[in-house]
Amino acid sequence: MEPKEIWKGIYVVGGPGLSHPADCCVYLVDAGRELVLIDAGAGPGIDAILRNVKILGFDPVGIGHLVATHCHIDHIGGLSRIKEVSGCEVSGHQADRDGIELGDRRLTAADLYGIEYWPVKIDLILEGAEETHLLGDLEFHFLHTPGHTPGSIAVYLDLEEGRALFGQDVHGPFSEDWGSDITRWRSSMEKLLDLEADLLCEGHAGIFRGKDIRAYIESQLRRYRHL
Ligand SMILES: [Zn+2]
Ligand SMILES: [Zn+2]
Repeated sequence: MEPKEIWKGIYVVGGPGLSHPADCCVYLVDAGRELVLIDAGAGPGIDAILRNVKILGFDPVGIGHLVATHCHIDHIGGLSRIKEVSGCEVSGHQADRDGIELGDRRLTAADLYGIEYWPVKIDLILEGAEETHLLGDLEFHFLHTPGHTPGSIAVYLDLEEGRALFGQDVHGPFSEDWGSDITRWRSSMEKLLDLEADLLCEGHAGIFRGKDIRAYIESQLRRYRHL
């Protein structure tokens, strides 16, 4: 599989089949003055992710910001290398800070994957229910969407084509080990539905467009209705 443009200025550069089987879907946003990466993959696929960025015609040094959507190893394992290569700043939520900054192996689920994690410092610590930050030339809206982990976040952008939402691990799963909370997850999913996004980039399930977005999120709500 090759990296590709999903929407004008939004690309998929990592994921199983694109970089490494353990990687989450990694998305790249061309924000004009800088590139923004959504998640970093598990780590072992990092060279492939950086190669994919180059294949698309971008210089990885131009990655100015990396959004860590939550503290699981399949999303943050590549953080330290990308920070090293690009000097980018990293955003993440206060409630997932112990996983990202201290590398707690239970919180990161690193043991589950058998992958070593090199902790990184969060430069932009998110604390509010919703925060907006200008990254490059684009306004990124950060939504706190706890449930899968306490500090899970979703990011959305209002672009010419419509609203792009990076929901990442919309599909769960849930574990006491990571502090999952199904009740909070349900209200987070309602928040995502309220956004009425035109594009959903998910952490493992890929891309959804238009009406398929609501159908997908509602199918997840149904799937876990007995929990
Ligand atoms: Zn996760
Ligand atoms: Zn994941």
